[in-house]
Amino acid sequence: MTEYRNIPIFLPELACPHQCVFCNQQHISGSLTIPQPKEIYLIIEQNLATMLPDAHIQVAFFGGSFTGLPLDIQHAYLQAVQPYIIQGRVAGIRLSTRPDYITQEIVHMLANYGVQEIELGAQSVHNDVLLKSGRGHTYEDIQRASAIILQSNIRLGLQMMIGLPGDSYDKAIETAKTIIELGAHSTRIYPTLVIEHTQLASMYRKGKYTPLSLTDAVQITKDVYQLFVQHGVTVLRVGLHPSKDLHNPEVLLAGPYHQSFKELVETALWADIFEKQIPITTGHIQIFVPSAQIQFAIGHKSVNKIYLQQHIGKVTFIPHKELLPYECTYSYH
Ligand code: SF4
Repeated sequence: MTEYRNIPIFLPELACPHQCVFCNQQHISGSLTIPQPKEIYLIIEQNLATMLPDAHIQVAFFGGSFTGLPLDIQHAYLQAVQPYIIQGRVAGIRLSTRPDYITQEIVHMLANYGVQEIELGAQSVHNDVLLKSGRGHTYEDIQRASAIILQSNIRLGLQMMIGLPGDSYDKAIETAKTIIELGAHSTRIYPTLVIEHTQLASMYRKGKYTPLSLTDAVQITKDVYQLFVQHGVTVLRVGLHPSKDLHNPEVLLAGPYHQSFKELVETALWADIFEKQIPITTGHIQIFVPSAQIQFAIGHKSVNKIYLQQHIGKVTFIPHKELLPYECTYSYH
């Protein structure tokens, strides 16, 4: 089986002109310096040394809005990767950007440099939510940019957020459905957090914004995640990457942060599956689940196993290599 690997190169946002309410611009533009193209060679070489030569490797420009960088810098970065693509040591490039930073000309240029996937920060498909969140782009921008990317045979990623100002359960579901309809190949789901020195922090302090509870965020994400799984959209990330800042109460003021957020979501998803598929009878049940998902099926802190034990009696989870993701079978003894 081919191994898929990324070589991540983080680009800080250079003087972003936007004012997303959840974003701490000071933190983003603070002390971070933009890597020089010659540093890119070093990062790629160091990463390649740790990867299997037959892996499918992409250089991933993340962190900022790539196509918002000055054009000469974009060219310099893309150029730096070209020798690796020509030598076949790297398969291509992936990058993230904003929907309103996409034009036909830019995508054409990116395609010529071997860009294989573009991730757009869509966040919501509802213009009222985008407006209240200060995103500075509309749903129509997302629609237009998605079509341009797909027409150029570049894979499309559309990232979404839940719990933005004006968002709701129904709107989050509609955002997920629209992301699927727009033809996204991948997504990332981020719950909105209240970070110090953001507009959201002052809205929160004035009582004008209430973040989602952890329970609600897990439930909404679970339903959205399930839609993506059912429609073959790869979920690349659920929840923010745990960092020192997010464990500092002076930085993270409020919001549904949990360092095992994805595990909570997977646990809830498996609880739904068991509720629908497993008849409750007292006895001993063996539950077969995909090997790679056994930890999630048992649940965070074994909650699913404990629940079933309380209602059934003896419960044994058995890893099964043949089962597809989210498939399970069982036998009672
Ligand atoms: S999240 Fe919004 S404000 Fe923050 S860097 Fe990105 S586009 Fe700019």
